[in-house]
Amino acid sequence: MKFLSKRKYKLTTLLMTLIVASLLFTTLILLFASYQSEKISLTNTYLSLNSSKSEKLSRSVNSLFKSMRISLQETSTFLEKNPDLTDEEIQEQLELLRKNSQYFNSLSWIDETGLVRDISPITVGLKGEQITGITKMIVDAKMAMLTAPYKAPSGRMIVLMSEPFYDSKGNYRGIIGGSIYLHEQNVLNEILGNDIIDENGSYYYVVGPNGELIFHPDAERIGDTIIGNTIVSKLAQRKSGMESVINTKGVPMFAAYNYIPEIGWGVVQQTPISYIDGLLKKHIQNLLLTMLFPFIILLVVSLSFAKKLTKPFIDLADVVNQLGTNEQIQPPVFKSHWNREADLLTKSLIFAIDAVESNNNILQEEAMTDALTGLPNRKKLNKVMASLVNDKRLFSLVVMDIDRFKSINDTYGHQDGDEVLKFLTKTIQSKIRKNDCFFRFGGEEFILLLPDTNSAEAYELIEKIRNTIANTISPVGKPITISLGISEFPTHSDSLADLFLFADKALYQSKENGRNQTTIWVHE
Ligand code: GH3
Ligand code: MG
Ligand code: MG
Repeated sequence: MKFLSKRKYKLTTLLMTLIVASLLFTTLILLFASYQSEKISLTNTYLSLNSSKSEKLSRSVNSLFKSMRISLQETSTFLEKNPDLTDEEIQEQLELLRKNSQYFNSLSWIDETGLVRDISPITVGLKGEQITGITKMIVDAKMAMLTAPYKAPSGRMIVLMSEPFYDSKGNYRGIIGGSIYLHEQNVLNEILGNDIIDENGSYYYVVGPNGELIFHPDAERIGDTIIGNTIVSKLAQRKSGMESVINTKGVPMFAAYNYIPEIGWGVVQQTPISYIDGLLKKHIQNLLLTMLFPFIILLVVSLSFAKKLTKPFIDLADVVNQLGTNEQIQPPVFKSHWNREADLLTKSLIFAIDAVESNNNILQEEAMTDALTGLPNRKKLNKVMASLVNDKRLFSLVVMDIDRFKSINDTYGHQDGDEVLKFLTKTIQSKIRKNDCFFRFGGEEFILLLPDTNSAEAYELIEKIRNTIANTISPVGKPITISLGISEFPTHSDSLADLFLFADKALYQSKENGRNQTTIWVHE
């Protein structure tokens, strides 16, 4: 039988590959799942941390500006109620208020014509000057206002909070304006703090209604307008919330933002996503370190288990592999195995090999046995003699031939001839000793091997047998006679061929001398 020879894989290899692959995939899945859930949890944590921080900040800014507004209102009310105050007295009043509250970098009274009547600190240098531009527009607006950052006449980037005031007759007297110098020490950075970038890279900033930066850790950017930032546009729509965004510098961030309705500004608190990625990386590293030892233990245990499981199957396969070769099959030694199939298969194979072997033995025995007499045949004779010669053991070889057998066949028929052969066999078998071997050599010729017996002893034994035969009635109704020749190993020769030749010659001598006799070979 020919099988297509495809590449075959060993059971151990397959099982071990399966185990290693399963373990690796399970670990990967675990790591991935853990990574995902940790990512979600960290994202939520940082979003809500940012959210609560930005809410707190917005509340602080809100209440600060409320207080600032109240303080400005009180000043304007005071001025309304005291119309007789001179400019100097008002200047003093402004000075006092600015120093006490520390809300504003400068406080000024700009009258309805745009003339700076009083300003604290006086060092600003604008006192008595006529202002133009945005500040003048604020004066003309005659209402409470909070500006976006803009460049003041002093050249500074400021935010101005204004409160109009009127005299007792209801005439508009201009505004009390409080300014915050965005690039200098001011109330905002006092309350929000200068150290606004955390060790994890989180920071916050404050934007005006049109995206103007009012407060930012990068002071250079204060006063700039942010364009195209989704958060700023959400704040412009008066929305609060949290989301991941990419900041102006292209860095991905988790951001939370809060709109401050009172002043229309927004506070944004954000953390770089890279910080969370760093935490995730650490998390995975820790997880790997924790898993490493149990993983190795599990791997080793699984692999040794697989080895133990496959061992009986491999042994069986190795035995089966010997079938069909000329090698002597070594049946597996039966060892009880905890795996049911391994146990059953081993038992079955041992059973099958035993059966095949005993069948073989039977066949071999049959091949070496003569069918008619049941005696071992020439094949067996060769084997036994070879082993005797090999042992260098003394023995006598006796060649025997029935006298005139042809005429028995001719007279009584072939079947009776066969009966005579069987009768002769039985008679001789009953006469020989335990260790003597009797063979049918072919036709009506037989051989006797007499171990540890010299030719003289053999002669004695043979003569008894010959006499018995000659005096016993055979199946054809009368006795038959036999003639015999004896040679001796190793005395006559240590060559088997010679021994046969000599015994044959001795037999021929017996025939020549009248048959029914025994002759020992003698060298001439
Ligand atoms: P001799 O005394 O010279 O041995 O005479 P013989 O007749 O025995 O001589 P030969 O060897 O020529 O004859 C042997 C005969 O044995 C020939 C054959 O017919 C017969 N024979 C051989 N094998 C068998 C057998 O198995 N059964 C029977 N019935 N006869 C057999
Ligand atoms: Mg013959
Ligand atoms: Mg004969």
